[in-house]
Amino acid sequence: MKTKAYQLVEWQKPPELREVEVREPGPGEVLLKVGGAGACHSDLTLMGIPPGFMPYTLPFTLGHEAAGWVEALGPGVTGFERGQPVLVYGCWGCGRCKPCRMGSENHCERVPELRYHGGGLGRDGSLAHYVLVPSSRLLVPMGSLDPRDWAPLADAALAPYHALKRALPLLVPGSTAVVIGVGGVGQMAVQLLRAVTAARIIAVDMSLEKLARAKELGADETVRSDEHAVGHIRELTRGLGAEVVMDVVGVDSTLKLAAGVARQSGQIQLLGIGGGVLPFHFFGVPLECQVVAPYWGTLPELMEVLALAQAGRLRMTVEHFSLEQLPEAFQRMRGGTLKGRAVITPHG
Ligand code: NAD
Ligand code: ZN
Ligand code: ZN
Repeated sequence: MKTKAYQLVEWQKPPELREVEVREPGPGEVLLKVGGAGACHSDLTLMGIPPGFMPYTLPFTLGHEAAGWVEALGPGVTGFERGQPVLVYGCWGCGRCKPCRMGSENHCERVPELRYHGGGLGRDGSLAHYVLVPSSRLLVPMGSLDPRDWAPLADAALAPYHALKRALPLLVPGSTAVVIGVGGVGQMAVQLLRAVTAARIIAVDMSLEKLARAKELGADETVRSDEHAVGHIRELTRGLGAEVVMDVVGVDSTLKLAAGVARQSGQIQLLGIGGGVLPFHFFGVPLECQVVAPYWGTLPELMEVLALAQAGRLRMTVEHFSLEQLPEAFQRMRGGTLKGRAVITPHG
């Protein structure tokens, strides 16, 4: 069958909508009809990377955040039915190394040999009508949740949830968490912190609209990202700073802000791939503060965020676009005018 897919054809060039051949699923594989495919800021970063930096072979179809309906099962696949809605765990590891067997395919040891991180990240992803998932182990049934609205669980929610779990011992009652950048991923971070911890949540963004949305989603305080932000947040934390700071932007200025508002023995989590640099020296971060760069999440964690969504504890701010409208979605993302996550719904 021939359909359309948005492919990265050349590094540092916009992706192209191309006609592609969808093949039948082979042994162990599952073909999905894409319900929703989230557009992530990482896609913009990926497109802008110079040739030779990533181990991927071009072209491949973009889209690493997906949910859809089972279309066809390859030989040997059981336990799924045609039409069943499923979330796609996006980190496609080897499935055999120890981290993979523990469900942490985000830490697969064989990425250098595989030369991909997942669909949309070196292999054909979900910004297409159909996506071929290499194994049914990467699918999580989503029950009554609609793939068109809940695809962002697979990345926008999973990544901050993974980060949050790393820092749980710090997020005790009385603690503070700062989320810098409350777009697609940051809005989920705020809600996950609200749902899982008793920490006070301070949302930071440049956009007043985004800050208002963060407040609706559970932030206790909102702070404009400007030259007064450090002072403002320190004031809100009795001069002590926050136990956990999630930088979901990752440019020089936000990293500086993060180091300026983190507390002694706290944790700065760099989720944003903005390319910024944080000078690391003895007085560069608060005493005994950890600096980590969490990457995506594990399969069990995906099941946990799904459980939160199914329990009605998360709200997803999505704007739907057709596959042909993908450039418009990226344009809105660049301009910072998306309300939350842009989700492509190739089948309407
Ligand atoms: P987005 O475009 O939806 O949101 C970005 C938000 O940051 C917007 O609300 C914008 O107004 C705000 N912002 C921009 N500059 C700012 C500044 N200087 N101060 C405060 N706020 C600012 O992007 P997204 O899809 O939510 O992705 C956010 C980041 O997370 C990206 O860098 C993306 O690559 C990264 N990401 C990382 C992982 C991971 O596993 N580490 C997973 C997903 C996304
Ligand atoms: Zn992403
Ligand atoms: Zn592996």
